[in-house]
Amino acid sequence: MKRLSCVVIALALLACFVQAQDRIEQWKGKTVMVFTPHPDDDVFGCGGTLSLLAKNGNKIIVVVYTNDNKGSFDLEMTSERLARIRKAEQEAAMEVIGIPKANIIWMGYDDGELEYAEPKALAGQATKLIRQYRPDVVFSVDPGEWYERWHKSDHRMGGFNTADAIRAAEFHLYYPEHLLVDGLKPYRVPLMMFYYAASEANYWVDISSVVDQKINAITKHVSQFEPSINKYRPDWDPKDLAKLVEYLKGRATKKDGKVVEGFRRATGFNPQ
Ligand SMILES: [Zn+2]
Repeated sequence: MKRLSCVVIALALLACFVQAQDRIEQWKGKTVMVFTPHPDDDVFGCGGTLSLLAKNGNKIIVVVYTNDNKGSFDLEMTSERLARIRKAEQEAAMEVIGIPKANIIWMGYDDGELEYAEPKALAGQATKLIRQYRPDVVFSVDPGEWYERWHKSDHRMGGFNTADAIRAAEFHLYYPEHLLVDGLKPYRVPLMMFYYAASEANYWVDISSVVDQKINAITKHVSQFEPSINKYRPDWDPKDLAKLVEYLKGRATKKDGKVVEGFRRATGFNPQ
């Protein structure tokens, strides 16, 4: 009986060890793919987790659906100029996270107009990238959250499109030209991590050790915050920057005394 209890305890410890090793923040040498509607949702939604993954030597590919070329109140701003600004800001933010600009893929759709893209072509583009990079995990906006459903069209479309592409990627009869012409085999994404999943989050990553890095990355998106969003300026007045950093620190999600990012973790056809 005593021996049996020892075996049970040993198995339980082994299960805990395996589970700990399987935690995403422990991953090393994997391929991580992030789909983001705008160049900043990635850093808002999962910037801390990406920092941890980058530190551990994982390869991270960031796919940006839109060029974010509409979000300015500055009447002198043009869409073309704003797209250039947003690209440079995203590259600077990703550099802080530890992702080189060569790993950022721009789909280049206009801000707020992702829903007007040709749906089959849009899903095909994402499907092809998944088949090409064969990621161990895909991060995406959660298509099921209220904010994505009702508030922001690019978030809604980006979330649904990524989910559709994940499904299509594993069946060779969707976009068969990927195999027949490009030699890209079907691929099943083994793990999905949906960010902005406030009410349905089932997985939390402790980002306490990298929260300053995440906030620093967010502040690279200068044009998206006051005063630059009203009258563009490329840099920060130190007072405005300090105010934003304070605000972001106060707004960070906390759980059990730690700063965390929450995700809806899913496998297969989307249940947990
Ligand atoms: Zn967004």
